Amino acid sequence: MTVVTRFAPSPTGYLHIGGARTALFNWLYARHTGGKFLLRIEDTDRARSTEDAVRAILEGLKWLELDWDGDAVSQFERKDRHAEVARQMLEMGRAYYCYCTPEELEEMRARAKAEGRPVGYDGRWRDRDPAEAPAGVKPVIRLKAPLTGESVIHDLVQGEVKVDNRQLDDMILLRSDGTPTYMLAVVVDDHDAGVTHVIRGDDHLNNAFRQRQIYEAMGWDVPQYAHIPLIHGPDGAKLSKRHGALGIEAYRDMGYLPAAMRNYLLRLGWGHGDTDIISTEDAIKLFDVSGIGRSPARMDFTKLDHVSGIYIRQAADKELAGHIMSRVETEVGTKLTLAQRDLLEAAMPGLKDRAKTLNDLAEAACFLVRPLPLPFNDKAQSLVREGREVLAAWQHLIAAAEPFSAAALEESARALAEQKQIKLGAVAQPLRAALSGSNVSPPIFEVAALLGRDETLRRIEAAIAMN
Ligand code: GLU
Repeated sequence: MTVVTRFAPSPTGYLHIGGARTALFNWLYARHTGGKFLLRIEDTDRARSTEDAVRAILEGLKWLELDWDGDAVSQFERKDRHAEVARQMLEMGRAYYCYCTPEELEEMRARAKAEGRPVGYDGRWRDRDPAEAPAGVKPVIRLKAPLTGESVIHDLVQGEVKVDNRQLDDMILLRSDGTPTYMLAVVVDDHDAGVTHVIRGDDHLNNAFRQRQIYEAMGWDVPQYAHIPLIHGPDGAKLSKRHGALGIEAYRDMGYLPAAMRNYLLRLGWGHGDTDIISTEDAIKLFDVSGIGRSPARMDFTKLDHVSGIYIRQAADKELAGHIMSRVETEVGTKLTLAQRDLLEAAMPGLKDRAKTLNDLAEAACFLVRPLPLPFNDKAQSLVREGREVLAAWQHLIAAAEPFSAAALEESARALAEQKQIKLGAVAQPLRAALSGSNVSPPIFEVAALLGRDETLRRIEAAIAMN
């Protein structure tokens, strides 16, 4: 059997972080088993399903590098097929026309509520002769659901879950305007696509019982279900806006690498021992639905930063420089020259150790390519003010350093400190301030070597000239 999984998001304006994890699990399981991963956009709510909302999902998945097999399917475009199946059930005697008016239904609901019964519809048209249909009422099609027994699901995550069939009323399959209900559409689409495994949020567990009834009515194979617990916030409450960003694009904009995000999302609810860092390659080898936890995972932003920092350090310098280019350009307000791009790349080893995100990295790299005069922070200003004499000495040392390398400059710094009878820090800090505009930077002699002799001298001169 070839495994076929799918991700079936409803377009709501962004790819929700929980949806992204669902997509990842489906994708991993398909790739692990050599199966297929399908994408279906559940766009039957026409008011919400704008092109922008659909695009946000596709872009989110592409950014996460979760590629789907075949074309993305629009659920809405399959509405005729959904209706066809409803009529087929009618012919098979597994569904029936119901002519209840909205008032009748309201009355039934109120009565059920007053009597504390869970079931809304009382099945009054189930066995009634359609000849009795009131004139002018357009019927809906309802499923003739089993009245006794129980519906059981052997969920791959939740274990065996069941519901008494008396709890489930005869659901509507096709509305009076001929449009399918969500339950029908999902089942028909999954069946037609040959979906073997439905991995989704456990907020859909209750739907699974009803969906199962439709499969059975049609005599179709029921897929395997894996309902995964939703993601909670750090405080244990269901994840919501107040916990932080919900859309995946916000994480992209904060500067997390897609691979880091995949790793983090994987660990939200799936584990392989205590290992935190699992490459996508390993994840494909190791992932199994049976490893998905049964309790809700908590979003942990500190952990995300930790994982992200590790991926930044592992990434190739060229790749990182490429990633931060446009961020740096926006910040410094100019296009970078080829030489400046090379400079960024060459500076990566000194910068990436401290960065948790690409945004951190870009922020820390800007000083290298900023046009002069550099902006100075307060501490750097006083370092320059109090270190003018040292900076003047540096001008000579820089001009004379041969070769112009970090090691040679460090040597000069030691000699200068000795000569002036001051600490190495008192020699290095004014230089750091002059070259970076800050009191913190990557190793400063390396910075000078990267900037080159001319630019280093220009920066010292500009700092000395500062009021
Ligand atoms: N469209 C549903 C959602 O976005 C998912 C339905 C399913 O996976 O069956 O929550």
